[in-house]
Amino acid sequence: MIPISAVAIGAEEEALVLEVLRSGQLAQGPKVAQLEAASCAMAGTAHAVAVNSGTAALVLALKAIGVGPGDEVITTPFTFAATLNAIIESGATARFADIGADFNLDASYVEALINDRTKAVLPVHLYGHPAEMSTLSALASGAGAALVEDCAQAHGATFDGRPVGGFGVGCFSFYATKNISSGEGGVVTTDDAALADRMRILRNQGMRARYDYVVPGHNYRMTDVIAAIAIPQFARLGDIVGARQANAAALSSLLADVVGIAVPVVSPNRTHVWHQYTIRLDVEAGIDRANVVAELERQGVGCGVYYPNLAYDYDCYRSHPSVVVDPCPNASQAAASVLSLPVHSGVTDADLEHIADAVARAVRC
Ligand SMILES: *Cc1c(COP(=O)(O)O)cnc(C)c1O
Repeated sequence: MIPISAVAIGAEEEALVLEVLRSGQLAQGPKVAQLEAASCAMAGTAHAVAVNSGTAALVLALKAIGVGPGDEVITTPFTFAATLNAIIESGATARFADIGADFNLDASYVEALINDRTKAVLPVHLYGHPAEMSTLSALASGAGAALVEDCAQAHGATFDGRPVGGFGVGCFSFYATKNISSGEGGVVTTDDAALADRMRILRNQGMRARYDYVVPGHNYRMTDVIAAIAIPQFARLGDIVGARQANAAALSSLLADVVGIAVPVVSPNRTHVWHQYTIRLDVEAGIDRANVVAELERQGVGCGVYYPNLAYDYDCYRSHPSVVVDPCPNASQAAASVLSLPVHSGVTDADLEHIADAVARAVRC
């Protein structure tokens, strides 16, 4: 079976983890500081605050900005539940704008939802392809709203040559399947020194110095053991992304003539880091995604549907007082037709041929 994701950690991570274990400093310490410096370099920001998950990064960013009850946050419905859960946890109301052909928030739909209560705009760089950041940041600043970027899938991706996570407040995840993975973990990147300071305090029980509580806080701290797993991967990020880009290019050329699918497109001014390689199936022409998935699995090709439903399309959200179920037909169409194929650095040239053959056969079934 060619898995849809694979953890690739090795001798460097082992040595660094061992160093931490032998140091006796297990909780947040020098390795977390080192991970924060590497995160600043990745996002091109002056500050980074490491936390224990990507979800915690989103919650911390929203809370530090001052997002709370009575405020609205505009995001995409075509995302992982964490994006929505973080908005709900902040106390704000979640609003949903539709997506464009790149699967990301489309500024024209965002604009239609902006009002006096809009406190933040929250694009997700889905699959590792950056959202259209120039119009989104202009819209957010014009509305006096913060720009919070969900970069969980987009380590090192760029828009107009600038890395994501530096346009607004960047929220990254290091969960086991992400392009940099430490099992669990996250980081918030920002150029705003005051915001970074509030986040450091909120991360650590609201404490400025020992037992000097200035605000009710939380425990969002990362451990040095976790930081040690992630740190070597920052240095390898160029190789990790390069391998994914080469695999994606090979898949797109192998799949170019297959009828009934559309391969993913990369917008000209952006670099895609291919957290997922996601095709669209022509479901209108009668291709049945469940059949394609079953056939691919029979042929030893792992695949995934990210995401089968819109984030709010579950009873627990539909009936939630903090969720406005804004209709998003483009996103609904995407949710019904997307399929992700293995693209990670463990995929070999022979695997790529096999994946493409299997897809061509599966869509004919
Ligand atoms: C993974 C992910 C998150 C959450 O990150 P965790 O580290 O799992 O909490 C948030 N948003 C998106 C789009 C993700 O893919």
